[in-house]
Amino acid sequence: RTILRELTELQQKNPDISSKCSVQPDADPSVFLKRYLKKMRDLGEGHFGKVSLYVYDPNNDGTGEQVAVKSLKQDSSSQLQECWKREIEILRALYHKNIVKYKGCCSEFGGQMVQLIMEFLPLGSLRDYLPKHHIGLKQILLFAEQISEGMEYLHSKRYIHRDLAARNVLLETENTVKIGDFGLSKYIPENAEYYRVNEEGDSPVFWYSIESMKESKFSFATDVWAFAVTLYELLTYCDHRLSPPVKYLEMIGNTQGQLTVLRLIELLESKRRLPYPKDCPLEVCTLMEKCWDSDPARRPMFNEIIVSIKEITE
Ligand code: ADP
Ligand code: MG
Repeated sequence: RTILRELTELQQKNPDISSKCSVQPDADPSVFLKRYLKKMRDLGEGHFGKVSLYVYDPNNDGTGEQVAVKSLKQDSSSQLQECWKREIEILRALYHKNIVKYKGCCSEFGGQMVQLIMEFLPLGSLRDYLPKHHIGLKQILLFAEQISEGMEYLHSKRYIHRDLAARNVLLETENTVKIGDFGLSKYIPENAEYYRVNEEGDSPVFWYSIESMKESKFSFATDVWAFAVTLYELLTYCDHRLSPPVKYLEMIGNTQGQLTVLRLIELLESKRRLPYPKDCPLEVCTLMEKCWDSDPARRPMFNEIIVSIKEITE
């Protein structure tokens, strides 16, 4: 009994050995063996990760299932590798209808390289989908409500997402969306209100709240700010010409690097915000305005946002 338990623990810590030792390799459905993973095509990549479509076919007879496999880009620092392991752990701990499902891991070189296996969502991200499919306002608000449900769940587990944006929301069907990409997620301890992160470059600043840019503070309320920027993206159908970076840069003038952040802070502190999208109902504009309150304590929480959206769509 204890031997079996020890073996299982060993296997969980180091899934790669399962193929070499006598423990049944199929016993743990979250262990994916490299040799049965067949790459079909690339799905997308961000700053640190790369996601590709694979077929997992352990019977080797073409009956395999499609999975999305995320891996850390080559030659990443040990700090990034730590973050990567945390991203996997976070997604593994989450279970909600509006959050992309964790399926398992595949490790190589004795656990040195780990890939994250997720369910494959064939319709891709809202960023790719919306410009090509002109859907109605009702549908947009349905997506907004589903994103809020996923976020409410995430926050109830005391995680913040920190990278909520249309590019990180995936479609399961024409009527269902799921939040993905937990690469920047953090855990907020019970007695803390925010998380202080100092990271240079490549931050999604056009989705950031004032306090995130000024004081590197991230909280449940900064996710609410990013939600409203995401809602703005949805309402503009992710039209590149109206994207948050393009619009903000129009307002502050084309700058680069740290100066962009300074100008952006100045702009937001003078109470200016992204323009309201064309044909945006007044109640939706009001909701966005509340989510973009300079004072994080005055922004609504996701349970309130869900109620507001339901009232609007009733
Ligand atoms: P990064 O951390 O590099 O931004 P993401 O997890 O956001 O990586 O994935 C990058 C892109 O890959 C997404 O914007 C989306 O287009 C695509 N993608 C990610 N996960 C899936 C999935 N489960 N199914 C289908 N496409 C996906
Ligand atoms: Mg991403």
